[in-house]
Amino acid sequence: MTSAPLPPLREVIAAHGLRASKALGQNFLLDEQLLDRIAAIPGSLAGERVFEVGPGPGGLTRALLRAGARVTAVERDARCLPALAELAVAFPGQLEVIEGDAMGIDAEAACGGPAHIVANLPYNVGTALLVGWLESAQWAPWWKSATLMFQAEVAERIVAAPGSDAFGRLAILSQWRSEAGIAMKVHRSAFTPPPKVMSAIVHIVPKDAAEGVDVRTLGRLTAAAFGQRRKMLRQSLKGIAGALEALDALGIDPSRRAETLTVEDYVAIARMIDARV
Ligand code: SAM
Repeated sequence: MTSAPLPPLREVIAAHGLRASKALGQNFLLDEQLLDRIAAIPGSLAGERVFEVGPGPGGLTRALLRAGARVTAVERDARCLPALAELAVAFPGQLEVIEGDAMGIDAEAACGGPAHIVANLPYNVGTALLVGWLESAQWAPWWKSATLMFQAEVAERIVAAPGSDAFGRLAILSQWRSEAGIAMKVHRSAFTPPPKVMSAIVHIVPKDAAEGVDVRTLGRLTAAAFGQRRKMLRQSLKGIAGALEALDALGIDPSRRAETLTVEDYVAIARMIDARV
């Protein structure tokens, strides 16, 4: 780990001309105490692999490096690479930076083994990345935990309980295979420049056992159920072969609406649909 003091992040941004790009979802975190608190959410990272999406000027990256992590970071904005190269020098052997789009990266291969994901995500790709990680064909997945910044409204949808307005496909996909909770709310004023909305960090830990359900079936089922969430299930699920029979077999009243079922209910229905053939 480094002993040399690092320049303040504002100086790094000024020195490298990193004017925030809206198109790249750039809202930087510059408060090093806050960044250290975020890096502490997954627990001790000493010697652990970490995959970071969008290091930008490197604020969260340096907090992860200070915590002793071995970081593989993917950044799309080439302007940030010289600043990140300075961090790699300050923390010898701890940081590898890949220039590219996180959507097209084989993160497991890039990290070289199981890793924690920690990221202040670009909002335009955050949900798609999370869904990709949750739909991993291999389960247990390559990632040991995910500590991710989202718009507060998206974070609420990930952790939502049945019966709430926020409960839907994202909650079911997230909670099917993982424990998900909001670890920290982050005020918009913590970012430079401040985004229009509040943010929250979600901490997600994969559950030990897979549930024996094809994620595509669960996806089709929840798309149908929540595509018409105000309708009764008997109506919204009639296009899915075997779904109404599954409701019947499980004793679920088909006049109920999508948001009143639990994650376990959806998993059970999907399992029955898959077991038909
Ligand atoms: N981690 C920094 C921080 O906390 O201050 C920056 C976070 S900023 C919200 C999002 C970062 O993701 C930006 O640096 C942006 O250039 C980068 N980014 C945007 N889209 C990306 C993509 N598809 N793949 C990799 N990085 C991306």
